[in-house]
Amino acid sequence: MVKRRKSRQITVGGLKIGGGAPVVVQSMTSTKTHRVEETLEQIKRLHAAGCELVRVAVPHREDARAIRDLVKESPVPIVADIHFAPSLAFEAMEAGAHGIRINPGNIGKEELVKEIVEEAKRRGVALRIGVNSGSLEKDLLEKYGHPTAEALAESALRWSEKLEDWGFLNFKVSIKGSDVLQNYEANRRFAARSEAPLHVGITEAGMGLKGAVKSAVGIGLLLFEGIGDTVRVSLTDDPVKEVEVAYEILKALGLRRRGVELIACPTCGRIEVDLPKVVRQVEERLKNYDKPVKVAVMGCVVNAFGEAREADVGLACGRGFAWLFKKGKPVKKVSEEEMVEELLKAINEL
Ligand code: SF4
Repeated sequence: MVKRRKSRQITVGGLKIGGGAPVVVQSMTSTKTHRVEETLEQIKRLHAAGCELVRVAVPHREDARAIRDLVKESPVPIVADIHFAPSLAFEAMEAGAHGIRINPGNIGKEELVKEIVEEAKRRGVALRIGVNSGSLEKDLLEKYGHPTAEALAESALRWSEKLEDWGFLNFKVSIKGSDVLQNYEANRRFAARSEAPLHVGITEAGMGLKGAVKSAVGIGLLLFEGIGDTVRVSLTDDPVKEVEVAYEILKALGLRRRGVELIACPTCGRIEVDLPKVVRQVEERLKNYDKPVKVAVMGCVVNAFGEAREADVGLACGRGFAWLFKKGKPVKKVSEEEMVEELLKAINEL
């Protein structure tokens, strides 16, 4: 059981982050934000996949203004992602954004950061303070020579202490690098010295399997140590995939339960059935099932009941048939043709 770090709780549009709340899954749209219909369509798909907070890119004024329409229809809180232009942060808040993400390092003067903080305080908007190697302050680069884990943690601490001194606590911090171990070390250093909630992730993790594995290792290492109040998996892909991978990471660590947790045997010489085909069918049929359930699909009866005892329901396949079992006990013998249907029926009866 993962013991979570004690962090301060914040709220973003009513959504609680940190302070013992479940680890929040978030993602970012890949549409042009001002194309409201397209952006909303993606936000709704993300929500259907379990995404609880969505960030949208705000590179131009038209994107900041579009937030007014997005917040009216979005089923989840919206965070505006702002870089370099403080004026866009004010416009996004004016339009009703629930949260603003800034990297103080690329906003420029401290005074401008303070003005954004004051406005967020006045409007009850949450902030995310981002620190990454590309936006590290000059003096820290000079002190450490390059963006080390120590430099990233020091920058994050510096900014979070400033916000606290300015009387603003409704913020979270993200420290991100694309190097897994540097990312891990920087977050650990910060977490040991601050109670601010942490958004964790690996930037530019990449595509497909590689991106998912890199994210799972990078985010998983931190979560296993109790560090991380909200996660975003960054993939070069449909953002819905980010949400799916995030839930798999959280489910593997017992931090969230959502949808199907599928246990499938690795197969061996005893196999009498096309198991990958059965697993694919089960996955496909259950992809929109959002209640937590553990399902096992095993290639034979030899070890199935024992190995999958913890599963709520499962199949132990033989030649042309399968035993349907519940909690490790066989309840019914079914034919190969009907086994997937019978499994789904048993899940619906749970
Ligand atoms: S469940 Fe059966 S087929 Fe699957 S790995 Fe174990 S022994 Fe082999």
